Amino acid sequence: MVRLSQCLFLLLFLARSGIVRAEPIRIVTSIETFADLARSVGGDNVKVESLARGYQDPHFVEAKPSLLIPLSKADLLIYAGLDLEIEWLPPLVQGSRNPRIQSGAKGNLDASTAIEVLDLPAGKVDRSQGDIHPRGNPHYWLPPINALKVAKEIAARLKELDSGHAADYEKNLQKFGAALKAKAGDWSRKAASLRGLKVVPYHKSWSYVSDWLGLREMGYVEIKPGIPPDPKHLAELILRMKAESVRALLIESFYNRGIAGQVADSAGAKLLVLPSDVGATPQIRCYADLVDAVLDALGRVSP
Ligand SMILES: [Zn+2]
Repeated sequence: MVRLSQCLFLLLFLARSGIVRAEPIRIVTSIETFADLARSVGGDNVKVESLARGYQDPHFVEAKPSLLIPLSKADLLIYAGLDLEIEWLPPLVQGSRNPRIQSGAKGNLDASTAIEVLDLPAGKVDRSQGDIHPRGNPHYWLPPINALKVAKEIAARLKELDSGHAADYEKNLQKFGAALKAKAGDWSRKAASLRGLKVVPYHKSWSYVSDWLGLREMGYVEIKPGIPPDPKHLAELILRMKAESVRALLIESFYNRGIAGQVADSAGAKLLVLPSDVGATPQIRCYADLVDAVLDALGRVSP
């Protein structure tokens, strides 16, 4: 009995001193891919919830009051940054009145900080011009090299917030890296057959994937990121797609598939509806599923 109470005392002491937390770390992420990465790295020491669903446009998620509840209790918020969530996340974070996750706090993790950002604007661009990628392209989490970078950032932050479980986070990170490595051969083989494939994305959300796989982006359905097409832009785009023999038009399920289908048909290209996040379809339950689904879909069109 004496021994038990001493153990309890020690546990309470450790929990209070922050060496070992008695409660799991509560993580909230903006998108489901980050939630999956956080679960992989956090393991049993964390509870994770994503605010957006994988089938929603991450630029424009409805800032429902119900999303304030997980945010108000969160120890760590993980988001893509580069203005991806600027329309909806900052008001929610402010509204949560949770000091742990406000900008600048240890519980606020902008995952873009470790990423080599693509599509950085040459001149000054601001959102008043309608471009919703004014700080470079925020759709960076699909190539495995970037997912691993984000996983490393999450592990580093969890070690800071919960130093008592630092060894667990390191072990889980190593495990995640090994799981990616185990898939690397299969992914490289599939990627090799796609090199040079000419595509037209609907939204400029595939730059990192195109860079990874060697796809050639020959234009976009949107005039600029976030600016819908007009008939003149579409007519020019169709002509270019025909001239360049573009094989596929890439679109996420939440964009205008009617317009995209007409463009693809007129240009003799295939319309490919691609998942861009874990949870985009019920079958895509984890990060590896997401990469598999994208590569398999692209594999149905050859260069
Ligand atoms: Zn975008």
